[in-house]
Amino acid sequence: MKLHWDGLTSEQVKEQRDKYGINELDKQKKEPFYLKVVHTILEPMFLLLIVASLIYFFLGEPKDGLIMLIFVVVIIAIEIIQEWKTDQTLNALKDLSAPKVKVVREGKTIEIHSEELVPKDLMLIEEGVKVPADGFVIKANDLRINESSLTGETEAVWKIICEDFKGNVNDELDNYWREDYVYTGTLVTTGSGTILVDKIGSQTEYGKIGKHLAHAENTPSPLDLQIGKLVKICALVTLAFLLLVAGVTFINDASLDLKSRIVQSILSGITIAMAMIPEEFPVVLMVFLSMGAWRLAKKDSLIRKLPAVETMGAISVLAVDKTGTITENRMTVTELWPLYSENQTRLTEVMGLASETDPYDPMEIAILAYDESEGWSKEKLFNGELVKEYPFTDELKMMGHVWNRNNQIEITVKGSPESLINISTLTDAEKRSTLEKITAFSNQGLRVIAVGEQLVQTIAEVPETIQKCQLTFLGLIGLSDPPRATIKNDIMQCKKAGINVVMITGDNGITASAIAKQVGIPNADHSLTGIEIDRLSDDDLGEHIKTTNIFSRVTPEHKMRIVKAYKQNGEIVAMTGDGVNDAPALKYADIGIAMGKRGAEVSREAADLILMDDNFSTIVNTIEDGRRIYDNIKKAIGYIFVIHIPIALIAFVGPLLGIPQMSLFLLPVHVVLLELVIDPTCSVVLERQPSEPDIMEREPRNPKETILTKSLLVKSIIQGLVIFLISFFTYYLMLQQNPNNDSLARTMGLTILVVANLFLVQVNSSNRLLAIQTFKTLIYDKVIWLVLGGTSIGLLALIYSPMNDVLGLSALSLTQLLVCIVLGMVSVLWYDLVKMVKNKTSI
Ligand code: ADP
Ligand code: MG
Repeated sequence: MKLHWDGLTSEQVKEQRDKYGINELDKQKKEPFYLKVVHTILEPMFLLLIVASLIYFFLGEPKDGLIMLIFVVVIIAIEIIQEWKTDQTLNALKDLSAPKVKVVREGKTIEIHSEELVPKDLMLIEEGVKVPADGFVIKANDLRINESSLTGETEAVWKIICEDFKGNVNDELDNYWREDYVYTGTLVTTGSGTILVDKIGSQTEYGKIGKHLAHAENTPSPLDLQIGKLVKICALVTLAFLLLVAGVTFINDASLDLKSRIVQSILSGITIAMAMIPEEFPVVLMVFLSMGAWRLAKKDSLIRKLPAVETMGAISVLAVDKTGTITENRMTVTELWPLYSENQTRLTEVMGLASETDPYDPMEIAILAYDESEGWSKEKLFNGELVKEYPFTDELKMMGHVWNRNNQIEITVKGSPESLINISTLTDAEKRSTLEKITAFSNQGLRVIAVGEQLVQTIAEVPETIQKCQLTFLGLIGLSDPPRATIKNDIMQCKKAGINVVMITGDNGITASAIAKQVGIPNADHSLTGIEIDRLSDDDLGEHIKTTNIFSRVTPEHKMRIVKAYKQNGEIVAMTGDGVNDAPALKYADIGIAMGKRGAEVSREAADLILMDDNFSTIVNTIEDGRRIYDNIKKAIGYIFVIHIPIALIAFVGPLLGIPQMSLFLLPVHVVLLELVIDPTCSVVLERQPSEPDIMEREPRNPKETILTKSLLVKSIIQGLVIFLISFFTYYLMLQQNPNNDSLARTMGLTILVVANLFLVQVNSSNRLLAIQTFKTLIYDKVIWLVLGGTSIGLLALIYSPMNDVLGLSALSLTQLLVCIVLGMVSVLWYDLVKMVKNKTSI
């Protein structure tokens, strides 16, 4: 095959795709539709429904049975639509955060999803990228790859250009772990390269091993577990009630024959079970979290793992990088200090020579921009031959370029002053004045970089490693990087919200302190350095971090220890990271935050959250949203709990009072109506609630706190009891007055329940605002109107249409209707009075 530097055309891509398929490791098995239906039907709630309708058929009341079956179908449809919507949301999110790769196609460099790669594509890889397909190295620039995921070898491998490339793409390779070939799943640690894709998907070495399968663990989140537990407890209570009610019904109906007694007691048991099983809890959790994540994605905050939404609200420590997160990452050279003034020009020249020829780091760009303004254009600087590179490492904090230029070999180095002083020849006096200057620059919040050179005659004299150089120290440069405009305010907001902001940087402590002071980070006068961290035991580190907010001269390995120490102290830690080596710490943190713009691809893959705009403000907003979403989940769980109480009590008390089965307040059909149609619809309102006014003035939520707190439980029980008393007694009084008109009594009771439902969501939408106020905040929201309007119209339709007879309902007179509406309102709006009193006393 001839190499086409223009890459594939779209026809060729299509051809290849048809031939080799999609570049994915494991095909995602989609649950077929019928299995979804089967799963839904197997939920206890539906089994009950189906049993109930079968009993009706069996009793020779096919009308009732049919209604139940219609409900089953409607509810299954609702559930499947809901699931489908959630699925869609999650897929859209996944799509946004899916790995991408640059390829050359039809002569243009474009970015595509890694999945869309086909053999013979030309892909461009660079530092921080996880290689998405196997392929031949066509071009390499300083390309080093860590292949430990395949070979276990932790030392990165230098890649060379494939010389004997014969173009026999997709031939079986006999030679394993070639140096001129890159492998899927490995990590580019430095440099860049162009790769001719050879194999994709399960054809790759990585795909063949199938190792990746081990990573696909799916552990339930703490909230999942809590809700699971809640559901279990409710199910047990339900079982007890079911047995009790079934027993009582059996004894009460002593006048009937045995068969009817059994059937009646089963029916009342089923009714109470349906009334009590809290099947909405997991649904609420899933819907609220995925909707929340979706809303966040629109605000530049991409959640990669759903439970992160809830954890965001519990964050107590926010550890962020200085450069780019707190500062703008817009560097400018503002100071230049040559050790000897005659060195000024040479310093300017060497700092350019020691920079990347094709820079992307803002600091390098700043240095070259400065040189440009001083008359050192790139062409003028880089006119020699680059014979060797000493790549930058986090440990050494310096880098160098060796140039063959002007008939000599020039070793040019720049980096952190501490590192450079170590490999330079300086007299004590020179050292002293240098150190003084470093302190002076740092105190101004500048990043200080030292520059040095060594001239040799032959390439043989060039030291193997940068540490073996013996430099002539040329001087220092000071770079400014202004703090972001909103940062001070953001940090203040975090303080109010009880979140400890911690700064992590590779810069020196004095510079870090100066910046910290400018932006209002507490304990800004001292910092803990990476070397000091190395000397501390885990316990001592745990003590130190209680009063430390700045970590300077740290490497990614230190970040890991810092996260661990905070977690040991019981904190919930969010940490940002952008480098290749930040991935482990990001994974370990409760919330790992990666940068969408400047971050390395692997850091994004390890993160729970990707900040699309790299902006600190977005983190703060996401925390606020996390708190809001958690609040709303809590409100929804509370609401569902409240509304279950009257339904369950009605189903329970009726048989106890000896009311005959046919005259009961709630027949199974009505329970289904309330439970499965009305209250899930109403909880949609809670999902849309804006945050409470004091949301960022509270301490972070205690992660151990259960979602149904004691106070919420007490409030819910009282609210539920009041609704029960008002609706049940209205029904009971009506029934006493007209013993033969159970449908009238039932209709009045049911209307009260539905009205109470509609107002309860408003009342419980806020802990402080009154129902009318919360309603006003969402007055322009169409969905709210759809829910409230739809439910009201639905109720009226049931009461007044000819269908009412089938459902055991009857038309109400206007007075009766109004009485019910007022009673329904009273049964929940009383809680607004409690709020008023609370608001008064808390001011
Ligand atoms: P930060 O955490 O602020 O992003 P880095 O880890 O990028 O810090 O850098 C740490 C230190 O390494 C810097 O203060 C500087 O002394 C040195 N350094 C960083 N980038 C370069 C570079 N491109 N060339 C030379 N030295 C560098
Ligand atoms: Mg950096």
